[in-house]
Parts: sequence; C-alpha cells; structure tokens
Amino acid sequence: MAPQGPDGEAPDHHGIMRPDGLSASTCVVGVMGYPVAHSLSPLLHNTAFAHLGLDWVSVAFAVRPGRAAAALDGARELDIRGLSVTMPHKEDVAAAVAVRTPEAERLGAVNCVADHRGAWLGDNTDGAGLVAALARGGRFVPRGRRCVVVGAGGAARAVVAALADAGATEVVVVNRTPGRALAAAALAGPAGRVGTADDARAADLVVNATPAGMDDVEGAAVWPVPPDLLGPGQVVVDLVYHPPVTPWLAAVGERGATTMNGLGMLVHQAALQIERWTGREAPVDAMWSAVDEPGGR
Ligand code: NAP
Repeated sequence: MAPQGPDGEAPDHHGIMRPDGLSASTCVVGVMGYPVAHSLSPLLHNTAFAHLGLDWVSVAFAVRPGRAAAALDGARELDIRGLSVTMPHKEDVAAAVAVRTPEAERLGAVNCVADHRGAWLGDNTDGAGLVAALARGGRFVPRGRRCVVVGAGGAARAVVAALADAGATEVVVVNRTPGRALAAAALAGPAGRVGTADDARAADLVVNATPAGMDDVEGAAVWPVPPDLLGPGQVVVDLVYHPPVTPWLAAVGERGATTMNGLGMLVHQAALQIERWTGREAPVDAMWSAVDEPGGR
C-alpha cells in the first residue's frame, strides 16, 4: 500500500500530490554495485516499502571499483538511510564501516549497511538469507544435518558460516582451489572440513556456490557435483537464479532430489535488510511474488 494523501496520492511538503508516491520527506536507501543496472534489489525493497505503507524508496547506485568508501561518506552526507552492497564492493565496505556485526567481522564482507548512532554499521545477511529460504515451507532445517557447499568465494563463505551457526553437524567444502576451500571450511569451526564431490552422496543438503552448473556440457565433467551422486531425500540448491533452472539443477532434479535456485537467498537477504533499516517485519510473500519465476521456490 503506497502512502496516501486525502485524494489517494502522496503529499509533498507544498501539499502537491505526486502520483509516484515520492515527496521531499521520502527516505532513500539503495543498492551499490558495479555493474548494478541488472539488480533486483530496488524492486524487492520497493515492493516491501509499498506493502508496509512506508514513505521510503530504493534506487541503484553504480559505484566504480575502489570508490566504495567515498560512496559511503557521500551517502551519509545525503542522509541515505541504508545501502545494500553487491559485487565488487563487499570487502571494501567491510573495511570502511565504523562498526561490523559478528557475521560481517567473521566473513570480512558486508552486504548491508545501516545507521548505528550516526555511523555506518556493516552486516552480512547473505547466509542467514539462504537459511531462511531453506526453512520456508519447512523444506530444510540445518540442525543435525550434513551439508556440502561447493565453492569457496564470497557466497560460499557466507553459506558455510550460516549453516554451521544454524547447527549443521557437518559442513564440507568442495572447491577447485584447495587453499580457498580450507579457509572457507574454517568458518564452520569444528563442523567444517574440506572434502570432494563424493561427499555429496551422503549429504542431506548440497549447495552449489559456483557458476559451474550453468555450463550445458554433455557428460557434465565440469559440473559442481556429478548428478548421479544425488537423488531422492536430498535438498540441492544452485545459488544461480538466472536462468531459474541451470542445466545442472535440471539434471539433479531428474535424479529425484528436491531442488531450489538462488532466488530464495536473494529475497530473504533483502528481507533481512528491510528489517535492519526499518525495524518492521518484511513482507516476504509480497517480495517473493515480485520476482518469482518458474523453478524459483
Ligand atoms: P566468487 O567470490 O567469485 O567465487 C566463485 C567460486 O566459484 C570460487 O570458489 C571459484 O573457485 C568457483 N568457480 C568459479 N568458476 C568455476 C568453475 N568453472 N568450476 C569450478 N569452480 C568454479 O563468486 P561468489 O560471489 O561467491 O558467487 C558464486 C555464485 O553464487 C555465482 O554463481 C553467483 O551468481 C551466485 N550468487 C548468488 C547469490 C544469491 O543471492 N542467490 C548471491 C551471491 C552469489 P576458485 O576458488 O577455485 O576460484
């Protein structure tokens, strides 16, 4: 529901009604990245604001590599209330903010900044976003379960830490570059170890946090995990959401596993950002409806 004046339109400070709902008192947030024009974050945020009846707007800011700290300073001067942070700025923002949550500190990466007593607080809602998406509809709860994460980059690291925090008994990291796998597995503490694709056979959850499943290669030697290692009773996630069903996810689904793409992580990490910024519960169903495609849930 959009904020409304007496004639059903939004008032600005002169009492002029604007059909777009924006006014001189509108609170501004945004997403910063490079490139950023493809980002679904403004759509997700603005859907939430409209649903909550808040006079807030989210826009995309194209911030060039290396300019994240300057952008944060500028945003503070412009009274921007919060920022979602995406590639390639997550590490730079973690270094630039005044305060970090324990998640952001542990990962050395920030995907959300919010005001904290007049300074920027850096948070990371990526891993919690995936755990929330998995829990939706009672699909999967990590406590006591064995998990495999393929990849050791920013997304994988966030997922590894969040699965361990959510009580997974084992979080096995499988990655092309062994040294990076070791560092990612360490984020899971005693539950973490480095493994091979073969570990996926006995896992309850397998998360692909690499772009490898997008390659439509007959024989699938380059896929994250050979699909014939996976099957019924397992939950398998590909963090990619464009296309909604990667060739790898389709092959895994054909083997009988329950599959999910990365849209859930995107929606729920944005929902957590809304809650950090506004203190209101995010309208997750409305946010889902704004971006959902076949194969998304
Ligand atoms: P990143 O930091 O660049 O890490 C990429 C990871 O993928 C690395 O571990 C890399 O291995 C591995 N990799 C890349 N190409 C590979 C290949 N051909 N075969 C095997 N491994 C390969 O990227 P990221 O930010 O973590 O993103 C990873 C994936 O998650 C991307 O597909 C991205 O679109 C997706 N993602 C989704 C969301 C969401 O909200 N759904 C959020 C963030 C990212 P090495 O360590 O050996 O280089």
